[in-house]
Amino acid sequence: MYAQIVVDVPTQQTNHSFDYLIPSDLTPVIQPGMRVAVPFGRSQRLVQGFVVGISATSKFSGKLKPIDHLIDLRPVLNAELLQLSYWLAQQTFSFWISCMQTMLPSVMRAKYQKAVIALDKNLQKQDLFQGQIMKILDNQLSTQMQKQLSLWQKNGLVEIKYLVKNQAKQLEQWFIQRQSYDYSTLLSQIKPQAKKQRQLLQLFIDNPKLKSISLKELLNKYHFTAATINAIVKKGWLAKNKQVVWRQPASQPVEATTDLKLTLLQQAAYQKITQAKDQVVLLEGVTGSGKTEVYLQSIKYFLQKNKTALMLVPEIALTPQMVAQVQGRFGKLVAVLHSGLSAGERYDEWRRIETGQATVVVGARSAVFAPLKNLGIIIIDEEHEASYKQEDNPRYHARDVALWRGQYHHCPVILGSATPSLESRARGQKKVYQLVKLSQRVNQHPLPQVDIVDLRNQDNLTAQPDLSKPLVSALQQCLKQQEQAILLLNRRGFASYLMCRECGYVPQCPHCDISLTVHLQEHYLMCHYCGYKEPIMKICPHCSSAKLRFSGTGTQKVEQQLQAILPTARIIRMDNDTTSRKNAHSQLLKQFETAGDILLGTQMIAKGLDFPNVTLVGVINADTGLITNDFRASERTFQLLTQVSGRAGRAQKEGRVYIQTYNPQHYAIQLAARQDYEHFYQQEMRFRHQAGYPPYFYLIKVTISHRSQAQAFKMAYNIAKQIKPVLTSSEQLLGPTQPTVARVKNRYYYQ
Ligand code: ADP
Ligand code: ZN
Ligand code: ZN
Repeated sequence: MYAQIVVDVPTQQTNHSFDYLIPSDLTPVIQPGMRVAVPFGRSQRLVQGFVVGISATSKFSGKLKPIDHLIDLRPVLNAELLQLSYWLAQQTFSFWISCMQTMLPSVMRAKYQKAVIALDKNLQKQDLFQGQIMKILDNQLSTQMQKQLSLWQKNGLVEIKYLVKNQAKQLEQWFIQRQSYDYSTLLSQIKPQAKKQRQLLQLFIDNPKLKSISLKELLNKYHFTAATINAIVKKGWLAKNKQVVWRQPASQPVEATTDLKLTLLQQAAYQKITQAKDQVVLLEGVTGSGKTEVYLQSIKYFLQKNKTALMLVPEIALTPQMVAQVQGRFGKLVAVLHSGLSAGERYDEWRRIETGQATVVVGARSAVFAPLKNLGIIIIDEEHEASYKQEDNPRYHARDVALWRGQYHHCPVILGSATPSLESRARGQKKVYQLVKLSQRVNQHPLPQVDIVDLRNQDNLTAQPDLSKPLVSALQQCLKQQEQAILLLNRRGFASYLMCRECGYVPQCPHCDISLTVHLQEHYLMCHYCGYKEPIMKICPHCSSAKLRFSGTGTQKVEQQLQAILPTARIIRMDNDTTSRKNAHSQLLKQFETAGDILLGTQMIAKGLDFPNVTLVGVINADTGLITNDFRASERTFQLLTQVSGRAGRAQKEGRVYIQTYNPQHYAIQLAARQDYEHFYQQEMRFRHQAGYPPYFYLIKVTISHRSQAQAFKMAYNIAKQIKPVLTSSEQLLGPTQPTVARVKNRYYYQ
């Protein structure tokens, strides 16, 4: 028998499967989707590989090498995921091996260790071996030792082996288990002095449902000693066993919830989703229209049919409320996958999915590869979010992967958003997707009233540079009524920097063509592209002036201004600096909910938050997103403003929104103020059509980078020269040009 194996050597030449002989003792156990260790290349070093097929014949005429050993005892990629990995590699121009590895939890990715084995008994006495037959080599060998080793190897005294290490470890714990005795009668057989032993039996008598309890819990919570427990175990009355435990990520206990009675609109959407078969449904629902409840009841419908459900959210840390809702409804059936988990926790969640214990998966982008079998429904919430696109290899879009899986399982894929991406909405228009709208809020309230504040108008300004008169008086009013406010500082492509008032000098990153951002509280300047840091300088290095001032707007600066105007307000600031700790997001949100007046934050506060007492939303600077030269700038600005406006007035009280801007006439701002997605869609589609952008055209970006600018430039023009002659009349080449930030980490970029 032969196995087709893709080896972990990511190069163009090895980007296909190789045939290997299956040793006869492995023939009955080997399956596609398992990882194996195989000798590879001239050096015959062992590398990891994935079995992608098994056959009785081989087309290869030369001498085949045998598989060395199995790494997994059962497949880690099932038939579906194997097939998906192949498609993904084609779609994204990536190596097949990289795609397979992307699908697995990081702890399962290969690590290699080099070991030297002493073939001659006398060698084992050498210092290096210390009486052992094998020594694992690290990089700290002296050159002397390396020379010695190569000499031994030449003379056949030692052999070098590459061990493939599997990092994934299951966590095991001791458990104490009830046996089939009547413990009440046993009690009399224990001497009265052995109080503790009696108490232990009593615990099982008092809790007839207690079948098994972890040793740790008995020791720590009930304060039994190991001696007590062992005494009973020795009698055979209780059993002691090792069990695998799942590192369930610690989270606050969530309250169980039950189905709400659907509104008529929700009911109609629910019907269409549950009857969609293998269709894609675009659920376009205004903010507060109750999309979540439709998701939850649809998931329930498919679970009752013994199917599983996959739900993607943009970023788990930003959407704790959504996760809590799914957990509240489906409890232990839910597995949550996100970047905040430790590698071990992630692996355990993955295993719970793989073994079928978890049938509902909620997670960010990479959760789209969750090994769920028998999928009944896939939901992508906020489907327009840019975070669904991976920016490193393999550069997949989770939405495309979800559509592929939907086809494979013949199950519906639900794309939900208040502001669908133009690509998805256009497909809805052309009936490629089924378009379902939730056009009203659940509470029947109108959408909040939105005022655009023109920052060019002197009458609107106050002593605080970032807070206009209308916004300040709305804030005062809001606090007076003991209601809450959310303030958004749009920081995309924008940050506060240091500038010399004498000569105009702005500190730049030495490695990137970008100015350094001021981090006031931490007292340093930082490059947001490469992470370079330096202390905030007091003297201008150009003109030696001491007149260095901060420019631009940061959350810390706005916080100070707010505090100056509203000294008693309790302000919660949410940005990259305050949320770097684990669980910081949900803690800050909790703090805002219970003891906060104003939540001030960056984009991370725009999404999904549902606080009934929030009646005011303010946008400090609506324009910054429009300045970037991304063709999606207007779309992103519209989405952001619509999302954040939707945070106001979600319960009984009505909401108000103030958008501060220097571009009050811009259509993205005007239409976001009216929450008029449909008109925005039409207008933006006209622009995309005229300019030749998606969804009318496909756009492919080729990026060239090199440490030498001349080299990068030359290559960019070279590639352009090769592309031009093969273009048809309906295809067009843009560039080559330099991106906005032309140098990052000392590499020059062209596109
Ligand atoms: P969206 O995600 O569409 O912005 P949500 O799903 O957050 O809206 O729903 C808005 C609010 O309406 C939530 O507080 C939710 O609990 C409530 N809600 C949703 N559906 C119903 C219903 N059928 N009956 C009562 N309240 C509902
Ligand atoms: Zn200066
Ligand atoms: Zn930098």
